[in-house]
Amino acid sequence: MPETLIEVKDLVKHFPITGGVFNQPIAYVRAVDSVSFSITANRTLGIVGESGCGKSTLARLLNLLIKPTSGSIVYRGEDIFAYRGKQLKNFRQKIQMVFQDPYSSLNPRFSMFDIIAEPLRIHAIGDRASQRSQVRSLIDKVGLSYDYRHRFPHEFSGGQRQRIGIARALALKPEVLICDEPVSALDVSVQAQVLNLIMDLQEEFKLTVLFISHDLSVINKISDQVIVLYFGKIIEMGERADIFSKQLHPYAQALFSAIPKSTPHEQKERLLLEVEPPSYRNFPSGCRFHPRCQKVMDLCRQQQPELIGTKHQVACHLYN
Ligand code: SF4
Repeated sequence: MPETLIEVKDLVKHFPITGGVFNQPIAYVRAVDSVSFSITANRTLGIVGESGCGKSTLARLLNLLIKPTSGSIVYRGEDIFAYRGKQLKNFRQKIQMVFQDPYSSLNPRFSMFDIIAEPLRIHAIGDRASQRSQVRSLIDKVGLSYDYRHRFPHEFSGGQRQRIGIARALALKPEVLICDEPVSALDVSVQAQVLNLIMDLQEEFKLTVLFISHDLSVINKISDQVIVLYFGKIIEMGERADIFSKQLHPYAQALFSAIPKSTPHEQKERLLLEVEPPSYRNFPSGCRFHPRCQKVMDLCRQQQPELIGTKHQVACHLYN
């Protein structure tokens, strides 16, 4: 039986927009709205959606970088937002992040060695000799040369910098790796190398991976399970193979129809969304996708659809 490592329950994050004389909240951006899902140990959960759909906010909530408006994230049976002191420090070791832009996420004044050693020093793990040997081993595992340990971030290529970011994330031997668009700033040829590296390291370090991307080919390569987000809501969720072979939600169908054909003879119709996405400040009533949906019904304008199904879930009134 696969072990559920993290359970996200009814998670909500609204960001206030302030204005007026007293700088009071005048509206809210509903970045994440009643989202529930679980992450299975040693598997990769891919989260995909247009930019601004709430993917990165979810990652920041999971990493305790921001607090939720409501809802909970349960890790090994404990609510992570209740953690304080030592528990919080321990949890921060267990969950690490790889960021989109490897250049801005690395301290330009630190050498590669110091960047990777920094988490070990902050958490006072081991003495100098053991830290040195661990950094050496991590540099080796991400495919870089220890001879370059005194070089600074600007002396590496984009792909090499992302390898340094991955080595730093692994320094504390985390259980969960959150990858927020880690290859979107890289050339296509380098993307494949970094994805293969993450998959190899996942196997070796027994990692559970949450992988965020707007690129469906990247999600297809790396994920075991997939969540499709649309403006803060999960609209479809299931095993990667099921979702990639047949999308149920009209938005997912349009999104996936944009994947390039694998052969010139493949028959594939591109479904275009002719209406612009809604404003973040003012979502439409009922189903958020209804102004853009070609299958819209009266019910869709009035009632928000809930996720239904078991293995392959969808939030759409067409399936009620
Ligand atoms: Fe379209 Fe209605 Fe389904 Fe929303 S609920 S995706 S509007 S059919």
